[in-house]
Amino acid sequence: MGWWLEEAGDVESLPPLSTSLDADVVVIGGGYTGMWTAWHVLQADPSARVVLLESGLCGHGPSGRNGGFCESLWLAAHSLQERFGAAPARALLDAASRSVTQIGEWCEENGVDTWFRQSGYICVSTAPAFDDAGRASVRAAAELGAPEAVQELSAEQVRARCDSPVFRGGVFVPDFATLQPARLALGLRAKLLERGVRIFERSRVSGLGGDRGGVVARTDEGGSVRASAAVLALGPRTRAVDGLSSRLTVTSSHIVMTEPVPDVLEDVGWTGGECITDGRLLLHYFRTTRDGRIVLGWGGGRLACGARVNGRVEVDPDVARQVAADLEWMFPGVRGRRVTHAWGGPIDVSPSHIPQIGSFSDAPVHYAFGFTGNGVGPTQLAGRTLASLALDRRDELTRLPIVGADAGAWVPPEPLAWLGGAAVRSAIMRVEAAKERGEQPDPLSAAAAAAPRALGMHLAR
Ligand SMILES: Cc1cc2nc3c(=O)[nH]c(=O)nc-3n(C[C@H](O)[C@H](O)[C@H](O)COP(=O)(O)OP(=O)(O)OC[C@H]3O[C@@H](n4cnc5c(N)ncnc54)[C@H](O)[C@@H]3O)c2cc1C
Repeated sequence: MGWWLEEAGDVESLPPLSTSLDADVVVIGGGYTGMWTAWHVLQADPSARVVLLESGLCGHGPSGRNGGFCESLWLAAHSLQERFGAAPARALLDAASRSVTQIGEWCEENGVDTWFRQSGYICVSTAPAFDDAGRASVRAAAELGAPEAVQELSAEQVRARCDSPVFRGGVFVPDFATLQPARLALGLRAKLLERGVRIFERSRVSGLGGDRGGVVARTDEGGSVRASAAVLALGPRTRAVDGLSSRLTVTSSHIVMTEPVPDVLEDVGWTGGECITDGRLLLHYFRTTRDGRIVLGWGGGRLACGARVNGRVEVDPDVARQVAADLEWMFPGVRGRRVTHAWGGPIDVSPSHIPQIGSFSDAPVHYAFGFTGNGVGPTQLAGRTLASLALDRRDELTRLPIVGADAGAWVPPEPLAWLGGAAVRSAIMRVEAAKERGEQPDPLSAAAAAAPRALGMHLAR
């Protein structure tokens, strides 16, 4: 289940829905996206009747078990600029940046201690072949009039913040924060209940019908909600939704966590709270915790295929072993110290690498998904936007260029997506391992690793 949920403490499951209800907005899915939507619907219209239906326990999917990097979109500045043009990209970047700040303010105002700490993020190179990672976003930020948003760091500057022997130069994005993800998810759940949102857990929605006049969501247990609008906030489960399934693929990510090692953090000078990734496509991400642990994750886990997309991809032992070995490679000081926890979860990946927010044309059903392993900050932006859409309001959020944008490319059905994705994943692993060793990747692997790009998919930000 992951250490974060353990640390945040048990919650008692809320009763499932077994009757018929009326509401203004029915939110389906109790991760960050769904819960932020419910929160912002009430912010915009305190009298709105909001029902939230969650198939398991709110916040016990990816939202409660992620790495806790609370991100803006500045590292993707170049691709947003290329895709949407300068002014729309800047509007989106500023809105995403505000989300990080607003999450911190929400915690403060609501007395929810999520360990929120806005100490910035470093994308660091670990081999000459990765030295360019992040540099395009430095250039784009400058072109977009915000040179302070993404800054280049020399190897000395990186190692002054975190002195791993494998670190070279990097880029710094000051507006990222870290937080304890399960505390945020469960804090949101508690605050929604206080504000009168009717939350039903163990209530999987298996049918959604409707027309322009409204929607009816039906649960496995025979409950139903008739509402003026519905919001689909299903995370990786969106892959099972007709009309959306070809717009995302599902992979997985795995995390290991050490026992408290404050002495190791002191030794490497990593006491400033920065979150860090390397510059690979299948990236390593790492951060510290309030009690001095190192959390190291890897975004290159196996692909989840069809039925295995259950929101509960537990740890893959091979991957966890590899991630633990990578941890020692980056931080030799942890050798001999205990890795106390390892866990994983599914990732909803957009072909464009950019979250997708939109609405169906034949019924008031709105959705957000495709956070591509970077949803902790952007789900708050999605929640604010979905609240406006669900209340049929048009504002600066609904005009953001990600709203209604296409997926960037088409994802084939299973098992084709799984077979193709698995081949590409293996090829990228071989290419990146060769680059790390300073060798030329073999041409076949290089070609397979480049195939998604040829199909219009963006594997990197
Ligand atoms: C190991 C790991 C590490 C990660 N690290 C980071 C990180 O450091 N930073 C970052 O920004 N992002 C990270 N992510 C990604 C981040 O967790 C997600 O982008 C984010 O949680 C998405 O939130 P969500 O609400 O859209 O989806 P989810 O959290 O998946 O929530 C969807 C909810 O919908 C429910 N649901 C699904 N189907 C139904 C149905 N039919 N009826 C009712 N309910 C349903 C599910 O049970 C689930 O609770 C990581 C993810 C993983 C797995």
